[in-house]
Amino acid sequence: MSPADAAGPADVVVALDVGGTGMKCALVRPDGTTVHTERHPTDAGRGPDAVVETILDVAEGLAGKARADGRDPVALGIAVPGVVDEAAGVAVWSANVGFRDVPLRDLAAERLGLPTVLGHDVRVGGLAEARLGAGRGTGHVLFVAIGTGIAAAHVVDGAAASGAHGAAGEIGHVLVRPGGPRCGCGRDGCLEAVASASAIARRYAEATGAGPTGAAGDGGPTGTPASAADVADRAAAGEPAAARVWAEAVEALADGLATGQALYDVETVVVGGGLAQAGPRLFDPLRAALHERMTFHRRPRLVAAALGDEAGCLGAALLALDAR
Ligand SMILES: [Zn+2]
Repeated sequence: MSPADAAGPADVVVALDVGGTGMKCALVRPDGTTVHTERHPTDAGRGPDAVVETILDVAEGLAGKARADGRDPVALGIAVPGVVDEAAGVAVWSANVGFRDVPLRDLAAERLGLPTVLGHDVRVGGLAEARLGAGRGTGHVLFVAIGTGIAAAHVVDGAAASGAHGAAGEIGHVLVRPGGPRCGCGRDGCLEAVASASAIARRYAEATGAGPTGAAGDGGPTGTPASAADVADRAAAGEPAAARVWAEAVEALADGLATGQALYDVETVVVGGGLAQAGPRLFDPLRAALHERMTFHRRPRLVAAALGDEAGCLGAALLALDAR
């Protein structure tokens, strides 16, 4: 059924991308082909111990599924959010899953008896985009994921740098607006306090007097708080408040990406995450604003991510394939 069995006849790796709300899971062949996918709720509210148990159960189930299908699971890759010590295989800290110094790599290796690699969700997403997606064919890639927060991965020749403490790529906390809106990290004026999808929705609600966004149904005249995508639509339709909030976000993103380019001198900037779905409404003005800021620096290519929300899972698979 699957082509090209040259390398390992029935080899697959087990890949998990653990997020705050859900886990994306797959069995992936050495050529990058996905042969099976599953999704499971994370249910982070149950606490980190229960989440770890679920991760181990799901991984074990996937390895069992592979064997039942006549395949040979050869390694496991797990991607998690937050601060990740990849060398030690430890999930150091995560706000949305609750991990505190969880030795997840060794726990999983012990349970499944497979070589296991632990990665950071955005770094492995960047790895996948650089090797299989929108950055393919270029050696120096900056992947920037814009959703609830903003984080980046600098990928050089197919490897993402993790930093000395597992916290590289926190471009969302680059200071772009001194004295600006308060960031979740406690400082005023970070990039993600102005330009993340949630910041755009919040700033638009504030600008239009709809109040802070809350549960659907309590957010103002239309019933539901406007999302960042709604703000993009309304900006394009010429609504002044939306146009202002959107333009401020784009300008702030251009400042943040210009800082990234000054540091890394990449060929390609790949923007992913929910905000990238705004398409040309984001990319056209952002490209122009970024290029405006380049003086002697080379202008990077600015493109939308190609792998969508599969990037993290594919990246976890790539780590596992590299570790075989
Ligand atoms: Zn911050």
